[in-house]
Amino acid sequence: KQAPSSVGVFSGEMEKLYFHELRMKDGLTKAIEKQQLRLVYQPLVLSTNHKLVSFEALLRWQFDDENIPPDVFIPIAEQYGLIHEIGAWVLKNACKQASAWGNDIGVSVCVNVSVSQLKDECFIAIVDDALLSSGLSPELLHIEITESVFESDTSFLSHQIKSMQARGIKVSIDDFGTGYSSLSVMQDLAVNIVKIDRSFVNKMNSNGYAIISAIMNIASSLDFLVVAEGVETEEQANELSSLGVHFLQGYYFSKPMEVANIPNFLSKKTEVNEY
Ligand code: C2E
Ligand code: MG
Ligand code: MG
Ligand code: MG
Repeated sequence: KQAPSSVGVFSGEMEKLYFHELRMKDGLTKAIEKQQLRLVYQPLVLSTNHKLVSFEALLRWQFDDENIPPDVFIPIAEQYGLIHEIGAWVLKNACKQASAWGNDIGVSVCVNVSVSQLKDECFIAIVDDALLSSGLSPELLHIEITESVFESDTSFLSHQIKSMQARGIKVSIDDFGTGYSSLSVMQDLAVNIVKIDRSFVNKMNSNGYAIISAIMNIASSLDFLVVAEGVETEEQANELSSLGVHFLQGYYFSKPMEVANIPNFLSKKTEVNEY
């Protein structure tokens, strides 16, 4: 008696989830056209003096009256193949914006890219188009790829990463420490920057400390720079700086900002550092 009813409840829940997902999929299909997407920007600073080096572009979707978080809609965009169009929009707009705040002040822009975008044959052409149409110097574009890249066949991805680096674009591994990285893959991919996931920064008083100093050792042997994500306190900022972490990012410095607030933020900065 119990089994059929629990199956019934389960499939009802599944149906609801599926309906929710389809509604978001339909919404996402029209999100660009309806101008519901926008980018907000979060600063990255140099750990030694807290000077601005870069802004990370983070996507926002205002769907009807709801703000749907990227952790919810990006997986749906990936699943239904919408990430290519959305990703191209993000690249184009982030490069345009970065070029507006100035090639001359040397503040770079970090753009998150899904593995499925990277696997697309047209991806490099899309990046070239974003650079060309914006006039942004390739050195000021950083592409962030999540660590799940390691779960895929790395030979084509490695080729894509090298193509970007040949243009002067820097490549980062995002959310480092949460996925399946192996040191040999790290060596093969030869990324420029590793972003330590904020879960390690939060746990810094226990084993996170040991893990971060281990990452710093690997960073100096394999020759990549390190960013710590999710820095929320002064104590964390100081600790990370003394561990030799190169760049810091988190609410302690700034939450992601609306584009309209960037000029004011920049005018308060007298100097920027190279990233
Ligand atoms: P991410 O690239 O690792 O970005 C960092 C996330 O942590 C952002 O969440 C940011 O707002 C949040 N964060 C920054 N500092 C702090 C802090 O001090 N404390 C805490 N608790 N959180 C902090 P957000 O904007 O919700 O983005 C979530 C994820 O969605 C991103 O993680 C990225 O993987 C993905 N994403 C965002 N924009 C894009 C995009 O344009 N394309 C793709 N493919 N993925 C994107
Ligand atoms: Mg990121
Ligand atoms: Mg991250
Ligand atoms: Mg992430």
